[in-house]
Amino acid sequence: MMVMKKLIDPHNRPINYLRISITDRCNLRCRYCMPIEGVSKFGHSEILSYEEILRLAKLAVQKGITKIRITGGEPLVRKDAVSLIQRLSALPGVQDLSMTTNGILLGEYAVSLRQAGLKRINISMDSLDPEKYREITRGGELSRVWEGIKAAERAGLSPIKINVVAIARFNDQEILDFARLTRENPFQIRFIEYMPVGSSSDWKAEDSLPAEEIKRRIQEREPLFPLNHDRRSYDGPARLFKLSGAAGALGFISPLSDHFCAFCNRLRLTADGKLKTCLFTDTETDIKSCLRSAGSDEVLSKMIDEAISQKPLRHGFTGGPIKRCHRPMVKIGG
Ligand code: SAM
Ligand code: SF4
Repeated sequence: MMVMKKLIDPHNRPINYLRISITDRCNLRCRYCMPIEGVSKFGHSEILSYEEILRLAKLAVQKGITKIRITGGEPLVRKDAVSLIQRLSALPGVQDLSMTTNGILLGEYAVSLRQAGLKRINISMDSLDPEKYREITRGGELSRVWEGIKAAERAGLSPIKINVVAIARFNDQEILDFARLTRENPFQIRFIEYMPVGSSSDWKAEDSLPAEEIKRRIQEREPLFPLNHDRRSYDGPARLFKLSGAAGALGFISPLSDHFCAFCNRLRLTADGKLKTCLFTDTETDIKSCLRSAGSDEVLSKMIDEAISQKPLRHGFTGGPIKRCHRPMVKIGG
């Protein structure tokens, strides 16, 4: 019988979730994620190969990671992303494998992703209006995201979660429309507070809509029914609700207004091989140099433990001056 190991950080939080960014490239340029001039891209040799990612993932799973999410940049722009999914899903001990995508290429890949072992997917879509979608993504075609969502449904990816970054005076008029999509569709629509990530972000406090405000705007028109969801179950940060008789659910994710750091179970591996234990700090552990200097599994394992030992208790947004990490979101993975 396999003995399940556990990773626990110094603040007594179980660490069981690894988010792996496989590229910093993207086929969109969302305004909240990267600056207008784009970001300098990692060279081919700077990003981890799939073999390197798999070695780290395998070790992390042996140490107690059970959930893996593939992200980016846009993960589906990296060649052979499906083969990585297949190899990750075959790792003994991976209980939950998922992906976050902008959906643009999902129409093409949904079936092969499902066949490779992906069970569920998160798709980012910040507007239901094609013009506004084009504006926020700097050129994206909303119809392609819808094709991706339909393809994901047909392929049997479930649940389908739709991420909506709520931005004041941009998509706040659409909150109710998004919520009402769950009436007929079994989606989980998740409203995420707009966060200041990256030194080049032009985030302003007044652009961020607190989750409670988003919820209030829905409740003005539609009663919301709480679903059983305990953030202490380390099951994800969204507070879940349902519209009356709806096929789907609504999630509210409040990293700023009501942070969930006390229940944070995450590690992040960036495409250039740095392990981050918090989205908002610049502290990183250089896993790549170990992987590329023929470091043993024992050394690698110690580096993971060392990184976890430095996981901060909470991020620094306490109403004072905003501290943000240097990396833009597109180079972290969300
Ligand atoms: N390209 C993929 C996508 O857009 O889904 C995966 C990478 S993206 C960085 C991951 C998630 O981070 C997306 O849901 C995106 O909306 C979210 N995100 C990016 N910048 C953000 C910000 N400043 N505040 C809140 N969420 C953000
Ligand atoms: Fe690309 Fe995703 Fe960032 Fe948009 S949010 S620019 S799709 S990585």
